[in-house]
Amino acid sequence: MTQAILPGATLGVLGSGQLGRMFAIAARQLGYGIQVYSPDGYSPAGQIADREWTGGWEETARLKEFAQRVQVVTLEFENVPVATIQQLQEWVPVRPGPAVLEAAQNRLLEKTAIRQCGLPTAEFVAVNSLEELHTHLSAFGGSGILKTASWGYDGKGQKRIDSGDSLTDLWQTFSSQTAILEQLVDFQFELSVIAVRNVQGEIDCYDPILNRHRNHILDVSVSGAPEITPKIAADACEIARTVMTKLDVVGVLCVELFLTGDGRLLVNEIAPRPHNSGHLTIDAHVTSQFEQQVRAICGLPLGDTGLAARRAQMHNLIGADANDWQAILSDPANHLHLYGKHEARPGRKMGHVTRLTL
Ligand code: AMP
Repeated sequence: MTQAILPGATLGVLGSGQLGRMFAIAARQLGYGIQVYSPDGYSPAGQIADREWTGGWEETARLKEFAQRVQVVTLEFENVPVATIQQLQEWVPVRPGPAVLEAAQNRLLEKTAIRQCGLPTAEFVAVNSLEELHTHLSAFGGSGILKTASWGYDGKGQKRIDSGDSLTDLWQTFSSQTAILEQLVDFQFELSVIAVRNVQGEIDCYDPILNRHRNHILDVSVSGAPEITPKIAADACEIARTVMTKLDVVGVLCVELFLTGDGRLLVNEIAPRPHNSGHLTIDAHVTSQFEQQVRAICGLPLGDTGLAARRAQMHNLIGADANDWQAILSDPANHLHLYGKHEARPGRKMGHVTRLTL
């Protein structure tokens, strides 16, 4: 049986953004030490950690030194090269492991893996040339969403195509990389479900969260939304449990879903780490998604996922939005979180605000 990693031990994190920061805060609260490793210095997670390692994903000697100082490694960023994870596994347990990361890093592998789990997605097809784009688009009735297969997040590397759009210009912007063409989903709303699975295989699931996007970036998330019926919640959780079990994930995983006009749930993507839509779990749920990540990877019992209010709403602070922090704080009901980023570039997630309806 795998031994639990007890408070007092040191946890390692790959990636050093806001997700690593909130994980580090939760780990500290439970009495763990924290070391983070990423190519960036002076990072949001580094500000909380005992030690911030700045190094490349291929720097074997440095990675080994880092691995030797921690009892387990997790990640806050799914685009860490799979080879780096495999290398680290020679020295220290890495949770989650490389299989789910490989799937999450490439939209074609991801949707294929989801289908292999027996779960529904939008219709999709691989596109490798302009000719293929023409052929598949007409099969989809002239419209669709073209996405780069790898390195896509927050709407980056994707373009909606409507009939009449110039495909030649569009294909050039994709620089002839392998892409995925998806059928446009006519959805009522988007939702996400966050699940947690510990080393012992125990799984729990937060009730689904309703999400609204602005400029392809998450804008607002709601926990306890009346639109999400008990049946939708049960089906969404079952989908997340299936992904966790079949892909043997240890840690936290988010499944992003569409609820179609005719009431079906389709999986859009998976993220094998805490998720932006789950930030409201810090202030509004009994146990936060970050504390669950600590518990899961250390082999501790899982916490209660329940919502400790009637409803909670999280609003992302993007770019200059965070400059309004004084106005936000002037309402005593707001829980303000700022990520310690030094520069507020447009489109950059700088913080979030959560409000509870009691
Ligand atoms: P993604 O990068 O795949 O998470 O997509 C970003 C956003 O684009 C999603 O949250 C949806 O709002 C929208 N989107 C992505 N794929 C589709 C699709 N097949 N049909 C309709 N909207 C989509």
